[in-house]
Amino acid sequence: MKGKLNPLVVRERRYWRLQKACWAITQIALAEGLIEPVAGKACVDCGAAATEYDHRDYCLPIAVEPTCRSCNSRRGRAKPFTDLPLRITKELREAA
Ligand SMILES: [Zn+2]
Repeated sequence: MKGKLNPLVVRERRYWRLQKACWAITQIALAEGLIEPVAGKACVDCGAAATEYDHRDYCLPIAVEPTCRSCNSRRGRAKPFTDLPLRITKELREAA
């Protein structure tokens, strides 16, 4: 079937691509020593051993906080770019 993709599917795909790009930047920052490895850090929310870094804003790929898996899940999704071209932000607003 040919036709327009559901706007929500389009939005999700863009979000995944954004997330993937952000993670790639974070990995480079780790390799370059701009971010310390998460091993040995405590979760900023509960104090347990941190296992991952959490992004709150994908505009800021190296602004990360160490969290455990469960706190990271509880925090939910990071904010997507807010200054993407207008057509994208418009879509996100409409879908919110
Ligand atoms: Zn935690």
